[in-house]
Amino acid sequence: MPKVSIVKGPRQPDAVAILGMVRRAVDLVGGMADIEEGCTVALKPNIVTGRLSGRGVTTDPRVIKALIRLALEAGAGEVLVVEGSGYGAPTAEAFELSGIREAAERGGAEVVDVDADDLVAVDVPDPLILSRVSVSRRFYEADVRVNVPVMKTHDQMLMTLGMKNMKGVIPKPQKRLFHRVGLAKAIVDLNKAVPVDLTVVDAIHAMEGLGPSFGDAVEMDIVMAGTDVYSLDVVGARVMGFSPDEIEYLKLAAEQGLVSLDGSGIEVVGEPIDAAARSFKRPPMDLAPQEGVIIIEKGACSACRGTIRSVFYDLEQMGLLGEIRGLVIVVGPQAEPPEGLGRRPLIMGTCLRHLEKAGRYVLGCPPNNDKMIEAIKELSS
Ligand code: SF4
Repeated sequence: MPKVSIVKGPRQPDAVAILGMVRRAVDLVGGMADIEEGCTVALKPNIVTGRLSGRGVTTDPRVIKALIRLALEAGAGEVLVVEGSGYGAPTAEAFELSGIREAAERGGAEVVDVDADDLVAVDVPDPLILSRVSVSRRFYEADVRVNVPVMKTHDQMLMTLGMKNMKGVIPKPQKRLFHRVGLAKAIVDLNKAVPVDLTVVDAIHAMEGLGPSFGDAVEMDIVMAGTDVYSLDVVGARVMGFSPDEIEYLKLAAEQGLVSLDGSGIEVVGEPIDAAARSFKRPPMDLAPQEGVIIIEKGACSACRGTIRSVFYDLEQMGLLGEIRGLVIVVGPQAEPPEGLGRRPLIMGTCLRHLEKAGRYVLGCPPNNDKMIEAIKELSS
């Protein structure tokens, strides 16, 4: 029976307390048992964008440092910290800004940028949508793989935890493919192709509301761990106050017999779910901020979705939001302006370059806020 541990620490734990929390959470699910003398351990944090932890966006460097220490204590000969950030955030920069590079190197690990690493094509067993995925070679070939997500809401998937965090082991062009073919199915396929030995959730500062990048930090002071990522996500959903059957990729995993959504067959150890749970504010799933704005979106990455939200936030701060009427934004690699629209749409992003003559085109992957605001002002004048 898969075990999932929940460990609650003191308020605002320091590095020593975090090491104790991580150690206990991991020990409760069997420890770093698979680590043999001299083997390679790869850790996969969440550094979707270059922000320092504390706001619930990126994995706390102290959690990474604790896991490096546990891996070395267990006999690892090499520890890697592997990540490929999201669009609009070069991975090398995200490693710096998040503080993960410093934590990794001080702890005795090497950082690996997925976007600069060799790739390996891995077959997906019993695929839902992708028969093969391209994955960072150094992550895939590590003897022990450890997934280290942050607990966050997600404006497309409702929640991002263990399964969704694995998207960081694929390079950026493949991330775009995931959005094009259907993110939930692609996430399940990726997890089947690249199983991890252990998942350790950083919920010291989690995120609610407009996740995965623009939500509000929630101090939870919790670390969770599990050897089965599907079970961990089922328990994690309940800790966040969601029903697992609301999460599309978990439903698909259950349909494939990978997990039970009602939690049967999962042993929760440490803190009970009810004692740890909190009702996380849900993310708004609709991108349009008000009437008079239509967003035609199909397969858009989180980066462009986040840009749209932050552009409207900027416009609101500038006192211009109320002046926008009849704006249509087309975004995402599969989106198309409908025929007979009767107005010039804003066509957004590099993946829609083939439509650049169909409206006011804004280049970028994602486009920057200033260029978007310039185009919106032009279309609204
Ligand atoms: S431009 Fe297209 S590929 Fe680039 S982030 Fe936006 S939706 Fe994704």
